[in-house]
Amino acid sequence: ADAHPGPMRISVYQAKRDQDYMRRLRLIRDIHFAAQMRELSVVYQPKLDIASGEVRQVEALMRWHHSELGFIGPDEFILLAEQTGSIHKLTQWILGAIATQMRHWADQGVELGVAMNISALDLDDENFVDQVAKVLEKHGIDPAMLAFEVTESALMVNPERSLRSLHQLREMGISLAVDDYGTGYSSLAMLKSLPVQDLKIDKSFVLNLAEGSEDAVIVRSTIELAHNMGLKVIAEGVENAISLEWLRALGCDTAQGYYISRPIAALDLEAWLEKNRHTYKQTEHS
Ligand code: C2E
Ligand code: MG
Ligand code: MG
Ligand code: MG
Repeated sequence: ADAHPGPMRISVYQAKRDQDYMRRLRLIRDIHFAAQMRELSVVYQPKLDIASGEVRQVEALMRWHHSELGFIGPDEFILLAEQTGSIHKLTQWILGAIATQMRHWADQGVELGVAMNISALDLDDENFVDQVAKVLEKHGIDPAMLAFEVTESALMVNPERSLRSLHQLREMGISLAVDDYGTGYSSLAMLKSLPVQDLKIDKSFVLNLAEGSEDAVIVRSTIELAHNMGLKVIAEGVENAISLEWLRALGCDTAQGYYISRPIAALDLEAWLEKNRHTYKQTEHS
């Protein structure tokens, strides 16, 4: 009944494994040169302040367009870059790109903060804080306009050094957010000891919020606790109007997701901001 008996099947699996392995080796080699090959870019996703209906900050997300393999997602290449040490190059590259963009916006009178994702290895890198300070100074950027997003697990790598870096960044005036909250093992109580201002609830809790499931209970209590601790709450993965209304009702501060906008290039973002200046403002009778 089986078209492919055992041995044949094993060889198919083996071929697939070899292919995956070759791809990984190739990506590991090529990511190291991606910046100098001009294969990297940045897209920006708006964060909506729910109460005011305004966008005051965007999240910067890295994109890699490999000359032969095409588009590679950050969920794949960031991990490889972390495993092989290339992450430091990527971080430096995107920091420079973001600073250049922020300078441009500031010159145009566009008041827009930018949040950048950083890796555990960045916080563990003794030079990172100085490098950030230098780049901001070079481009004349107000540190208060920059934010870093760090996952919970990143804080666990070298807690002492990470904590020191976080405090130094905070002292510079940079704001800090815990990313993908709820997917790791940290408790809100533990976060209390960190110099963070924002909590980003992971999209896995937000995607199906509309169904009013268990997720709604989790999101509600997270918002309540976070607010009691003086933290602002961002929900990522807002894909429809119902989720946004739920979040508004639950008192969530900020929403981010495909329903509002996908991550887009800087020029498209400028057009988006212009077009949507009033889209999310609540009118008196709505
Ligand atoms: P993240 O920081 O948690 O970013 C959120 C991810 O969810 C992004 O994926 C974003 O495009 C996606 N997303 C946004 N809205 C929605 C939505 O409504 N629905 C769904 N299903 N997804 C949504 P992306 O851009 O592929 O990035 C994946 C992860 O890669 C990021 O997760 C972040 O951890 C990492 N990453 C991206 N850029 C950088 C970077 O420059 N440096 C570092 N260290 N990590 C980065
Ligand atoms: Mg993020
Ligand atoms: Mg996230
Ligand atoms: Mg994530």
